[in-house]
Amino acid sequence: MRYISTRGQAPVRDFAGVLLAGLAEDGGLYVPESWPHFSASDWRAMRGLPYPELAARIIQPFTSGSFDAETLGGLCARAYAGFGHPAIVPLVQLETGLWVQELFHGPTLAFKDLAMQLLGLLFDAVLGARGERVTIVGATSGDTGSAAIEAFAGRERADVVILHPRGRTSEVQRRQMTTVAAGNIGNAAVEGTFDDCQDLVKAMFADAPFRKELHLSAVNSINWARVAAQIPYYVAAALALGAPDREVAFAVPTGNFGNVLAAWAARRMGLPVARLIVGSNRNDILARFLAGNDMSMRAVEPSLSPSMDIQVSSNFERLLFELVGRDPAETTRIMLRFRETGRMQVSDGAWQRARQVFYGFRLDDAGTADEIRRLHNASGYLADPHTAIGIASARAHPCTHGLPTVAMATAHPAKFPAAMERAVGFSPPLPPRLADLHERGERFSVVANDLEAVEAFVRATARRNTG
Ligand SMILES: *Cc1c(COP(=O)(O)O)cnc(C)c1O
Repeated sequence: MRYISTRGQAPVRDFAGVLLAGLAEDGGLYVPESWPHFSASDWRAMRGLPYPELAARIIQPFTSGSFDAETLGGLCARAYAGFGHPAIVPLVQLETGLWVQELFHGPTLAFKDLAMQLLGLLFDAVLGARGERVTIVGATSGDTGSAAIEAFAGRERADVVILHPRGRTSEVQRRQMTTVAAGNIGNAAVEGTFDDCQDLVKAMFADAPFRKELHLSAVNSINWARVAAQIPYYVAAALALGAPDREVAFAVPTGNFGNVLAAWAARRMGLPVARLIVGSNRNDILARFLAGNDMSMRAVEPSLSPSMDIQVSSNFERLLFELVGRDPAETTRIMLRFRETGRMQVSDGAWQRARQVFYGFRLDDAGTADEIRRLHNASGYLADPHTAIGIASARAHPCTHGLPTVAMATAHPAKFPAAMERAVGFSPPLPPRLADLHERGERFSVVANDLEAVEAFVRATARRNTG
């Protein structure tokens, strides 16, 4: 499989190449040169497979040329061995026609583990074969950092440094990052905001000599391998509910558009996905786009669902590329104008094509708390604030009526104790393997909001392993 950039000016790469590269050099995002396709009988043959085997079958066409089926199968088995549920991604029925798929049984209790656990192994395999090392740097306001740290802790070929804004992440989120005792992990508590952390990461990548010296790499949500690794759970849910002989709909609480893009990819590969509902909190740029072709940036406002507090959904560019008929010049023109003016203008035709599949939905904090309470009263189910938005969106949309609909449960409710307290008056306990999280020793360094200081910290972390 070969990958091309949505902006058409970066080298064509294979899977291993896009895994390590992340963003393309032309500022675009890598996409497969052509989409793999499965027939109805292919889908039927996958019914009932254990999740790791299903995942390997779905991901394999994307990795061809870089990983053979057997190697990939072994990596998927290892990636999901540490999950806290034997089904890995269990479905739970809430009411007639409506299910949640729990994507939070991984080590950090959020769906990002599904992709990140595999990424850690893929990185080690590719870097091992090449005899190389990388330093992964990233900024986090919550779930991504801990998922990356858990996935790469103790890996041989990568060091990971995660920047978080000091005192501005939740206690659970911080502890999930800082209590992992592995020599190749560095946590920097930056004296600044999340935006400062992101700017520092960008500045490190822009510092060419530093980037080269440390072999900087990234595992943020625009990394194609993360999208690919999120496709299989949509397949698992659809097959369990009758696909390919019955259509399904998915409702996805959305931030950077990576998760719902994976659902779209499954559809593009032939899975009968009739509708995709994009759930947003008050940061509703996607809902506004789908409702009225108005994609205009606004300041980010904090909400009960912090992992969806976004100004721009970076993975949207991959859908845009498809909506404009895979035209890189047109994609580039639209994206550059968007950066310039803060407003995206797509043609009426492209907008209508999006609306054939995607439906937007927005819920504010009061509505989110109401939905958590309503669900708990109706079925005893406890949904975290992100998941609650997904469930509410599935219930609200007439487009799902008569279609089996699956809302993606993206985080465990114990990750957001304050929101749960507010909604139902208590917070569920952390699962047993994390029960002692608050007693574990933390390790992090407070670092000034300053490029030189952060680069020195990154160097020191990387040097622990290279001597
Ligand atoms: C990251 C995250 C999201 C948003 O996912 P995207 O792929 O960025 O759209 C939603 N819910 C939770 C709990 C998350 O951690």
